[in-house]
Amino acid sequence: MFSYRHAFHAGNHADVLKHLTWVAMLRYLMQKDTALWIVDTHAGAGLYRLDHEHARTSAESDAGILKLYAAAQQAHPSGQPVPEAVSDYLNLVNGFNPEGICRFYPGSPWISQALLRPQDRLKLFEVHPTDARVLQRQVEELDKARQIEVLRRSGFDGLRALLPPPSRRAAVLIDPSYEIKTDYAAVLDCLEDAIRRFPTGNYAVWYPVIGRPEAHALARKLKALGTRLQRAWLQAELNVGLQPDSSTAARVAQGRTHGSLRASGMFVLNPPYTLATQLRDALPWVMDVLREPRGATWRVVTQEG
Ligand code: SAM
Repeated sequence: MFSYRHAFHAGNHADVLKHLTWVAMLRYLMQKDTALWIVDTHAGAGLYRLDHEHARTSAESDAGILKLYAAAQQAHPSGQPVPEAVSDYLNLVNGFNPEGICRFYPGSPWISQALLRPQDRLKLFEVHPTDARVLQRQVEELDKARQIEVLRRSGFDGLRALLPPPSRRAAVLIDPSYEIKTDYAAVLDCLEDAIRRFPTGNYAVWYPVIGRPEAHALARKLKALGTRLQRAWLQAELNVGLQPDSSTAARVAQGRTHGSLRASGMFVLNPPYTLATQLRDALPWVMDVLREPRGATWRVVTQEG
């Protein structure tokens, strides 16, 4: 059942899109002093080593964060300066790599804890026994450990018990591995339930863009849900394209096999009003850096509530 381990995929292009968006969201929400509850329904292990054998198995970070990291240190081919949201994200990653070589990659719990202020709380759900143990151990070593709770249960079920949070401010990341088909429906049910309990929360859902009917339907249903509940939403997608010799079969990724994953999206409900502009500025730059020879694209679509 628990075959997915994020350590094999950490720092790939999907993480770049997800974490760039997540950093921009949290930065905006933290402009206000009131306490923020950050909930990560699918946390993973926390901090990853990019030179560990797991990460090196498919070396997905080579075409993700490592490429971005290198590009930011050189002049970009287009001559464009590094967009603000990208440099903010890279600075955060840099914070874990004081020697200037990108060996450590912060997963979403680690990004969130790095930004956590004394008044904030971080709730991390993780069901994989090994990853939950690693996460717990890493959290215990932090100065901020008392603000962070690792919950070894399903985030789909557990989120509802946390909403609405005492401070009436929450940022929620829903980032399943989609290794089981039911994850697609579970995301929608979880989000709808969460919005009904706490309509003003800020919710972000990561999803794969793959040749699977459930995946196509998810992006469409997320937008329909936002519209039906009269909430503002934003959808951002990044497709890094294909190698010239990629066969059709290789393009039809089965499940979340990140090695062949070419595109993914973030759906944000109640997005900060600055987010669309930031992503429209950042994604063309990111795409130019990460692109394969054929078919790279990006898009940001928004709807007012
Ligand atoms: N959010 C992490 C990040 O960005 O660094 C990556 C998370 S990874 C894509 C998905 C994680 O969800 C895996 O570690 C998996 O074990 C865990 N998982 C799977 N089903 C879950 C569930 N129902 N509740 C909580 N965690 C779950």
